[in-house]
This record gives sequence, C-alpha cells and structure tokens, in this order.
Amino acid sequence: AKRVYMFDEGSSEMKEILGGKGANLAEMTNIGLPVPYGFTISTQACNDYYDSGQRIQEDVETEILEALARLEETTGKKLGSPVNPLLVSVRSGSVFSMPGMMDTVLNLGMNDETVESIARLTGNPRFAYDSYRRFIQMFSNVVLEIDGFYFEQRLEKIREGKGYHSDPEMTAEDWKEVISAYKEIVKKRIKQEFPQNPMEQLFLSINAVFDSWNNQRAIVYRQLNKIPGHYGTAVNIQSMVFGNMGDDSGTGVAFTRNPSTGESLLYGEYLINAQGEDVVAGIRTPNPIETLQQDMPDVFTQFVEVCSRLEHHYQDMQDIEFTVEHGKLFILQTRNGKRTAQAAIRIAVEMVKEGVLSQREAIGRVEPDQLNQLLHRRIDDQHEKNLLAKGLPASPGAATGQVVFDPDEAERLNKEGVKVILVRTETTPDDIHGIIAAQGVVTSRGGMTSHAAVVARGMGKSCICGCEALKIDMQKQQFQVGDTVIHHLDTITIDGGTGEIMAGEIPMIDPELSDEFELLLSWADEERTIDVRANADNPADAEKAVEFGAEGIGLCRTEHMFMEAARVPIVQQMILAETEDKRQLALDQLLPMQESDFEGIFKAMQGLPVTIRLLDPPLHEFLPDKEHLAVEVAKLQILEPDSPQLAEKEKLLKRVRQLHESNPMLGHRGCRLGIVYPEIYQMQATAIFNTATALESKGISVKPEIMIPLVGHVNELKIMRQLVIDAAEAVQQKTGISIEYTIGTMIEVPRAALTADRIAAEADFFSFGTNDLTQTTFGYSRDDAEGKFLKDYIENKILPDNPFAVLDQDGVGELIKTGIRLGRQTRPSLKTGICGEHGGEKSSIEFCCLQGLDYVSCSPYRVPLARLAAAQAAV
Ligand code: ADP
Ligand code: MG
Ligand code: MG
Repeated sequence: AKRVYMFDEGSSEMKEILGGKGANLAEMTNIGLPVPYGFTISTQACNDYYDSGQRIQEDVETEILEALARLEETTGKKLGSPVNPLLVSVRSGSVFSMPGMMDTVLNLGMNDETVESIARLTGNPRFAYDSYRRFIQMFSNVVLEIDGFYFEQRLEKIREGKGYHSDPEMTAEDWKEVISAYKEIVKKRIKQEFPQNPMEQLFLSINAVFDSWNNQRAIVYRQLNKIPGHYGTAVNIQSMVFGNMGDDSGTGVAFTRNPSTGESLLYGEYLINAQGEDVVAGIRTPNPIETLQQDMPDVFTQFVEVCSRLEHHYQDMQDIEFTVEHGKLFILQTRNGKRTAQAAIRIAVEMVKEGVLSQREAIGRVEPDQLNQLLHRRIDDQHEKNLLAKGLPASPGAATGQVVFDPDEAERLNKEGVKVILVRTETTPDDIHGIIAAQGVVTSRGGMTSHAAVVARGMGKSCICGCEALKIDMQKQQFQVGDTVIHHLDTITIDGGTGEIMAGEIPMIDPELSDEFELLLSWADEERTIDVRANADNPADAEKAVEFGAEGIGLCRTEHMFMEAARVPIVQQMILAETEDKRQLALDQLLPMQESDFEGIFKAMQGLPVTIRLLDPPLHEFLPDKEHLAVEVAKLQILEPDSPQLAEKEKLLKRVRQLHESNPMLGHRGCRLGIVYPEIYQMQATAIFNTATALESKGISVKPEIMIPLVGHVNELKIMRQLVIDAAEAVQQKTGISIEYTIGTMIEVPRAALTADRIAAEADFFSFGTNDLTQTTFGYSRDDAEGKFLKDYIENKILPDNPFAVLDQDGVGELIKTGIRLGRQTRPSLKTGICGEHGGEKSSIEFCCLQGLDYVSCSPYRVPLARLAAAQAAV
C-alpha cells in the first residue's frame, strides 16, 4: 500500500493518513496557495515502523527516495549537491494537533560543503552559516538527543566574549566559529562526528520523528487530551524557505480571529529576519501582526487575502504559519485554531450571522467541556487591587496561588493540595506537567502564540505572557517588579483576561452568561430532546440554576439542611431521644426550619418541578466524633466525676457507639432510616406540603416531587409512599388546599434496577442516582477507591475512565437500561432522570439521550454544559 504522498496527491480529508499538518499542506497546495513543495510519509508508515521494531521498511524507503527525486525535480535542487543544494525541513504531524509536542528539524541537507554553496549562491555567507549552526543545534537536540543547553551556553559565551548583546550582531565569521564549537560539542557528547551525509541526516530525522511519537511529553499530552496512542504521526519533508535572509525576510504566526476573545480581527505576531521556531519558542518577543503593514505592505495585503481565503475554505478560524523570503510570502501550516471558550462561542455565533455556518453547525463548534472556563469566578472590580505588573492577556480567567518557579515543585505542591502559580521566563514543552498542576501561568518573555499561551488556552487555564516588567531571579527564587520583591510561595492573583498580576489574594465574583452564550444556548435548546435540571439544596443554588436555564431541580438533598450549625443540637436531640414523644419535640422544632428552606427553593424555582429527596445519610454523621468524645469523657471522669455534664456526655457517647457502623455506606441510611424512624420522613413531608400549600394560597405555583432514597425492595417504597400520602392528606384536611405532587424513588442499588417492574408499581418517577449506583454496582466505596486504587486502575487501563466521573455504560449503564425497560413495562408514563454527577458529563449525557431519559440533572454551574452537550447528542 502507498505510504508516501506528494503534497499535490493529498487533501484535507486525509488527516488519518497524512496527519493534520500534512493533510492541510496538501489542501493548500491544491487550492493554489504558495506552499513550499514536499511530501508526507503517512501515519501508517509510523505504525509499520513500530511493528518492525523501530525500523523503516524497505518498500517505504524506496517510496521515500522516489518522492525525494520528484521534489528535487520540481525544485531543480538536489539534496547534498554542491552546485545547487536542496534544503528541507522534517516536520512531524499527527492526526490531532499536538502543539510543541513533536520535534521539527529545519535546514536539513546542510554540511561543510553545502554551506559554502549556499553562501555563494545567496551571496549571503552570514545567512548560510547562521542556518548551518541552527541545523546542527536542532538536529543534535532532536535526533542525537544532546541537550540544547550545551549549545546555548557555548553560543552565549562566544557572544559575550565578543562584547555583543544579541545574535543579530554576530557576523558570518562569528557564526563559523560557533559552528566549529558546536561540532566539538557533538563529538564530545556522542563520540562521533556530526553526520555530514544529507541522506543519512534525512533518515535519522525521519526515525527521530517516529520515535518522538512516544517521547514523554507527547505521552503526557495524549493522556491529558485522551488521544489514543495507535494513531501514530506522519512525517512531512518540505523544501525550506528562509525567513532569516535579511530584513526583507521574516516569519510569523497568525490567527484569523482573536483566539482569546473571538473578535473578528487578524491576530498574530512575527519577527523580521528569523526562522520558524524563534516565534513560538518565545526567545525574542515578537511584533504584533498589525505592524507588518508598515514593514512589508505588499506582503501584508497578500497575507490578509490568504487568511480570508483559508477561513472561508475551512469555514473555521485558522491558525496560520507563514514565512517571508526576500519579500515573497509562503504559507507553512494552517489548522483550525485553538481558542478559549469565550472565543469559540463568539466565533460560532458570528459565523452564523455571517452566513458561514448554520445554527446546528454552530452548536457543534463549541466544546462543552470548555464551558466551565466561562463559568469560573472572576476578579471583583469593586476591590482594591495591588497591581504589580501587566503582561499579555494570553488566556483568560482569574487565579490565585502561591508563586513557584519550578514545574516539578508545582506538581508536588499541587498534589499536597496547595494552589500555585507557575512563574517562568518562558516555558518549554518539558514544563507541561507544571502547567497542568498550576492554577495559572506567568512568563516574562514570549508572546501570545508562545508555548505557554497555547497550552494554557487549550486547558482553559489562566495565563499571562511576555510580562517583561518581571525580573525573575531563579537563584534567589523570587521576582522583582520595580521595588517590590515577590518571594517563592508568596501569594499572587493573576487575571489572564486583562494581563494583570496582583499581589495577594483578591476576592472573586460569580460569572454571568454573555449575550452570545445565551443565544448559542437558545439554539441548543431548540435541538435537544432531553430536559436539563439542576441539583440544588438551597435558594442561592436554585436561583443560579434558573439563571443558567435549568428546567427544574432534579435533586434537592435535605441532609445539608440538617447540618447547619444552629440546627445540629436539635438534630442531635432528635437522634438521642429515648422515646417517640421526646423525638417529636425535637422534630417540632425542626419543622419550621425545614419549611423555610423549602419556601426559598420553591420560590426560586417559579413553578418548575422540584425533586426533594428525603433524608439519606447515616445518623452518626450528625453526632460528634467518637474518639474525640471519648477523650472528653475520660477527662471529665477525672476532673469532675459527679457533674451533670459528665452524665450527659456519657449518654451521648453510648448512643454514638450504638449508632456507629462499620460500613456506613451500606448501613442504616436512606429509606432504611425512614422505616425505623418514620417521624423524620413524616416531618419532612409535612414541611413540604405545608410550604407548598402556603405558597399556592398566595398564588405561587409549586411542583414538588418527593423522592425516597436507596430503595432496594418494593415494600420499602410501598410503606414510605403511604407515609407521604398520609402527610399530604393531613395537610389538605387542615387547609382545604390540595397540592399536585408525585412520589418516586432513586434507583441506586442494583436490586432496584433489576426489580424495577415491581418498584414502578409504587413510583411515579425514577431518578438514577448514579453516584451510589456506581458504588454499589462496582462494590467500590468511592472515597476509598479514589484515594487508593482507582488511579492505578486508570493508569494501567484496567478501567477506561474514573466511573464516578464518566458513566460506566457497560455495567451501570446496563442497569439503567434494565431499570427503564422494566419500569415502563409496569408504568408507561414513568418519568426518568439521572441525578448523579454524570448528569453534567458529556458522554454520559449522550448516553442518557440515547436511552430516552426525560432529564439529566447536574450542578447549576454545569447546566449550560449539559444544555449544549444534550443538543450535540441530538443533532
Ligand atoms: P510545530 O508543530 O512545533 O509548529 P512545525 O513543523 O510546524 O512544528 O515547524 C516549526 C517551525 O518551523 C514553524 O514555525 C514552521 O513554520 C517552520 N518551518 C517548518 N518547515 C519549514 C520550511 N520548510 N521552511 C521554513 N520554515 C519552516
Ligand atoms: Mg516544534
Ligand atoms: Mg507548526
């Protein structure tokens, strides 16, 4: 099978084979854009390479040589020719773009001989030697695996020895000296001469690109982005164009729209007299693209045209690499640009307005998982902020944390639960673990397209770049701005939306949805087939839920209401009561409190359904800690043996011991509590109906749905149902007002799902409580699993995902299917929903849509995500 494709043989449809970069280079070649010619070795060849023990197979080698011959013919140059040498780049490119993850070699084909021809042919020896030393450094780093540090150090020494401040001051002779020094380094490190044969250089590089598919940072990136390892990378061999030929040359990167805000304005950076990697590496801070208009007016006009053409061609915002050689523009890469959630929304909405996209298409353009960026808290402008400095606003969102300078330390502290801000002069792909661990990133050098910025935007992490006012001192572990010194582990706050860096912690405020976001969500609402509700236990959350578009509350837990500090003594009284009468006394006090809780929530929900779950947790959760209490009793026994206080504490301790369970997760909780202490559920039901009645009589409509937790046997539900009906009737008799309500159950133990036909006889609705259902199906206690073995399970691929985050469709999902099928057999009108944390997770929402559930319920802040994900599942 074919393994090598010339650029004019491919297309953007062939990403799986050619990788993203290769497919788009082919596409651009075919639509007539100025792309340096070349060919792509397919991802399949990468897999062949690994299959044959990391060796390029013979037939693939033959194809590569044929393609090279065609490239030489087209360009009229020849690899290694002393007359007219061809120079190429060797570029990796996988199916999914992995910025900075794979390594590129530029200027390949240079050696002691060709460098002289190039010096002669271009009449520019300085350029020739500069390119050669770059090649030696890059090739040594990527292919020979010699740390770039050796080269940088040597270059700096030579430069300083000559009294220069920067590279542009270096002359041709100086670069020649650097080349000799570099070759010495190579010889010292690998005990061999730097390879002079261009063909050898080429094949060593191709191997290195294939090898880099499995380097550490590529693996980390793939894990983070859930990219499977089997895809492999393609290799692009492309004839070089040079941005480092003088002041009429340059190189840059641009987005067709602002990737941070979405504004429809060309956005990018370039450097005059520089080669590709210089811009992204953040070594020199580049110029904003606007000034290219003055520097190179013709090139600028042409570039603007290319951008618009590419955007229309791909119908999406593009991220474009370009190089100018002696005033001639070349395009070296295009891809759909990575963007913040805010930008994604604005671009999608504006592209609909521009007639480029349909509403349905626009819905698919925003990644639901990205939305939580927008639903994050921001800095409250009302507060005084101690502004230290301002950098480039590279990735929005505010973050507070302690300053660290080392990515390893960031990772270590994060594991201990410390929030950190990573501060670096610039970041490299090797820092990615530190970026992941940090709340936000600050760099003192590099622009908006530097590595740190690209990675941070991809992760929705706050980032500020190019803040040159920061004088970072790695030795002293501190940075200085003006007279202020910020030390290692001092707290700072950063705002990636404005670029502001502030000392200390600044209060933050809740987010609001932008108009564009609301519009996009309203389009999503038109498409989706499943309702979205929220889990809310208090009026504030309920209000947030409504604001974010929830169509009801799918889970209102009542135990939080019991845990409020002022109520705990009364709750304890209730639990400790020896007789029913005494317990009733305590419950009578709790009743009005519960009523006020429900009142706030019902009012906030404005007649939307509210599913209230009666008390669930084990009673001992409300009681003081056993060990602690035992110590107190022991103390009193010595100090005040006859005090009434001691007697009381002893009684309490006895009861705490009685209530202690060896396995509370499977203990006396849920409806088991309601069965043994019916007064508690009775009080709760009464509070619900009292409140509903009072509100209805004021003309405020209320739709309570009363949910009995942890039912495993239909008889449990039967008894609890009757109890609720009795409570409703008692209230109705007293007030003369009847309330519409339903009674249902949570399906959260396997037996409930398996006997759903019987349970449905007593239930108006089922709500799949997938947190507990996952625990009980796997037999995992969540706290123990997540703390102990689950990480290992996921790392070793025993489980594909954390089942508490992503619904286990094969097991838990099968129980849900069974539950729905059996339940509807008995009661076709049965309402079904899901209220575990999975209700806010994309793939789980898709599953729920497919199974025909009536609603998903998730935390208020996830409601927008769920609305969008549900729409994507429907279209
Ligand atoms: P990455 O995936 O890290 O962006 P690329 O393969 O795109 O790596 O290349 C790195 C840099 O080198 C980019 O700026 C690119 O434009 C530049 N580059 C790659 N190939 C060539 C070429 N043939 N001529 C000039 N510049 C090139
Ligand atoms: Mg690179
Ligand atoms: Mg690139």
